[in-house]
Amino acid sequence: MHTLIKLPYNYDALEPYIDARTMEIHHSKHHQGYVDKLNIALQNHPEWQQRSIEDLLADLSHVPENIRLAVKNNGGGVINHNFFWEILAKGKELQGEVKQAIESDFGSQAQFIEVFGQVAVAHFGSGWIWLVLVDKKLKIMTTVNQDTLLASGAKPILTLDVWEHAYYLKYQNRRSEYINAFFNVINWDRVNELYKKAARIA
Ligand code: MN
Repeated sequence: MHTLIKLPYNYDALEPYIDARTMEIHHSKHHQGYVDKLNIALQNHPEWQQRSIEDLLADLSHVPENIRLAVKNNGGGVINHNFFWEILAKGKELQGEVKQAIESDFGSQAQFIEVFGQVAVAHFGSGWIWLVLVDKKLKIMTTVNQDTLLASGAKPILTLDVWEHAYYLKYQNRRSEYINAFFNVINWDRVNELYKKAARIA
């Protein structure tokens, strides 16, 4: 059985940028929903139940066809949200090796925010915006629905959920306000750790 991870902070920890009610519903209803639907898809397939989600998604072509789409969508939904919660926190400043890398690859923190924000605003429909390390360079990538970057070769160090469920309660149709708020709740300490791991910096 796959289970819902606990958040490493309270639902109100990101106020006022991301409100407690949105966090509660996002985690306890939407994220939980992906976990539940993944378990339902696997319930008659014990041989696949013990595999990690990463393993299931990497081996999707061997997953029985009648559950393949459910495993892809819901497995992706589980791990994308696991990653998203991990890179959120209030009151962190961009610092360390990832600061140098962002300044080197985007020009400045402000230019990174501008470009990432433009991509996020322009993304059509549901999906995720990613900051990744690929070929030793930081790049912005996008995925649709609950697709992941697992097979891309890119190493994600930051992500933003642009599904309407991530912002609609507080921001309604104003996705750009949600995106601007997001830049205040990035856990740059964690992103720096992920960057160093991806870049193999000790
Ligand atoms: Mn979401």
